[in-house]
Amino acid sequence: MKATDILDTLPIGLVVLDRSYRVQSWNHWMTIHSGIQPNTILNHSVFNYYPGLNKPSFIRACKTVLTFGNVVYLSQKLHRYLFPFKLPGGDETDCEYMQQSCTMSPIHSEDGSINQVAIAVHDVTDAVRMERRLRRVNNLDDLTGAFNRRYLDQRLQEEFDRHRRYGRDLSMCIFDLDHFKDTNDSIGHLAGDHALIEVRKRVTTHLRDIDVLARFGGEEFVCILPETSLEDALQVSERLRASIEETELHWKTQQFKITASFGVATLSPEMLEARDMLEAADKALYKAKEKRNCVVSSAEFSGTQASPFEQAPRPQVTL
Ligand code: GH3
Ligand code: MG
Ligand code: MG
Repeated sequence: MKATDILDTLPIGLVVLDRSYRVQSWNHWMTIHSGIQPNTILNHSVFNYYPGLNKPSFIRACKTVLTFGNVVYLSQKLHRYLFPFKLPGGDETDCEYMQQSCTMSPIHSEDGSINQVAIAVHDVTDAVRMERRLRRVNNLDDLTGAFNRRYLDQRLQEEFDRHRRYGRDLSMCIFDLDHFKDTNDSIGHLAGDHALIEVRKRVTTHLRDIDVLARFGGEEFVCILPETSLEDALQVSERLRASIEETELHWKTQQFKITASFGVATLSPEMLEARDMLEAADKALYKAKEKRNCVVSSAEFSGTQASPFEQAPRPQVTL
């Protein structure tokens, strides 16, 4: 085996460019992933095949290698990939393109001058996928699949900061299932779990992608509603309330229904922290619990009563 043949056995991509960005070496790994044969690309500018590389950051990296003899590392975390190798589609943790970390090294001639740069391309897609999946699982509530409290706190702060910077509307609602202890006591804890899962599913269908539904704890959920006025947040909450009330739940041979009470708040100038809005919504929820199965705005109860929805009946169970 010749020394150059060894390059074709490497489980990484290896590309050599000259000072004019012409390809001088293109190993078998690059052929497999690009579909481009060496005899097609050799001695041609790499930009003819990968115009996206013709950008200041890549040119700067090549010049640093060729001028100073430095080794340059292009981390996937910053660049994601150098050569766009499309991957088959998948779920949202999947990547559209192979994720790559690349090392660019100088190749010295016998007289010591540097006329070529060697680019080693490492496929780090599996590690990126795993990291994304772990991060996602870390943010979700085990039972319902809604976001968890940790993620809620983080997103609430981010949305609050965004509101501060751009002055856009930001609202939220917090809702708590009514008489849920009775549901557990009469039909069983597993039926209660099932109800929590169904509520999450139902509510999600009424929310936009930018909204965040999180399980706040027990049988309490929070929706962050970015770019939403108080009036719109009240409408959304009323839609969610009606949807929960209408949902027919089934557990084994039993059929049952549940209701929820909602507190709604919007960010106002006197609220100095994200938590102030959460507290305002929570106070409105407390007020809503005087009647149950209703929506109360935090702006509403400077002495006034909850929205005039009927008192929630106790959970009805059909055997
Ligand atoms: P209210 O209308 O005042 O909210 O009455 P409630 O019965 O819903 O409120 P309470 O705080 O008395 O009871 C909450 C119940 O929620 C009791 C608890 O067992 C139940 N719960 C909390 N988390 C879960 C869960 O993960 N699964 C099930 N099945 N039940 C849960
Ligand atoms: Mg409750
Ligand atoms: Mg509760």
